[in-house]
Amino acid sequence: LKGGLRKTHSQIITGLDEFFISKKDKASRAEALETLFELLVQADVGVRTSEYLVDKVKARMNAEDYSDPKIFKNILREEIFTILTATKENPKGILENPLQSLSDKKLPHIVLMVGVNGVGKTTTTGKLAYKAHLRGQKVVIGAADTFRAAAVEQLAVWAQRSNAEMIRLKEGSDPASVAFETVKKASENGSSVCLIDTAGRLQNRQDLMQELAKIGRVISKENPDAPHEVLLVLDATTGQNALQQAKVFLEVVNITGLVLTKLDGTAKGGIAIAIASELGLPIRYVGVGESVEDLEVFEAHEFVNALFA
Ligand code: GDP
Repeated sequence: LKGGLRKTHSQIITGLDEFFISKKDKASRAEALETLFELLVQADVGVRTSEYLVDKVKARMNAEDYSDPKIFKNILREEIFTILTATKENPKGILENPLQSLSDKKLPHIVLMVGVNGVGKTTTTGKLAYKAHLRGQKVVIGAADTFRAAAVEQLAVWAQRSNAEMIRLKEGSDPASVAFETVKKASENGSSVCLIDTAGRLQNRQDLMQELAKIGRVISKENPDAPHEVLLVLDATTGQNALQQAKVFLEVVNITGLVLTKLDGTAKGGIAIAIASELGLPIRYVGVGESVEDLEVFEAHEFVNALFA
């Protein structure tokens, strides 16, 4: 994560350090707060959340503290941590918990992957399958994005890496049929985890809503409490657009958690703070590269450690 947040770190923290050095640690309160606001906005924390953070820092600082960048940064760090942890409580997924802690649940644990095309949904599905595979969990993947043949082929490669069976139907089939067959297969072959990759065409909200609702209905027929998780995948490099996408999906489907991809190589990592603050949804995983291992379980303390390192 530290590598992944390098650019965001230089945007916010190095920016602050340079400011305090340039002022020879005699920054005025107004200058310091203004600089903080600008740096946060540039890192895609967003105007609202940046204002909120600036107000929090302002309220907690004594006038004399502005000569001490350490106090300033520590307060900022605590407030960012608070935002990242004050999200809606959701049961943790099978990928973060040993199987026995889920023994009261009926297996398979069914996860629906949603998000706009290009955000890294297929890659993330593959990475999650691999994580489950490394835990010794048997996985079935459903290729329910039936309109993108290339995406299905790509998913098949990922599935192979995790020894996972993949369910696909012919191009243009009903995504709900794929979901149905996937869950059926997972139950039949005693799989622990069932990952269903859905399509992400946002152009027609109505279609998307109907498609996801139908998938939900089909899945819950045999498994009344499923899907157990609905993970929305967002691309960190799109900054504030990711937040807008999330708002659209939230109107359509009951999202239980977020995956923030492509944190590596972007200075817009502040979007994680904006998302947590504005949506109150937990970030569950972060993508920090293109290879199969490049997915980390999101931990707020690790995020602030990496950001402020
Ligand atoms: P989908 O259309 O949402 O299924 O997106 P894909 O999974 O096909 O990913 C789109 C591109 O993003 C591919 O080139 C992936 O390799 C890349 N990608 C996905 N996740 C990450 C990540 O965490 N970091 C980086 N650098 N690239 C990623």
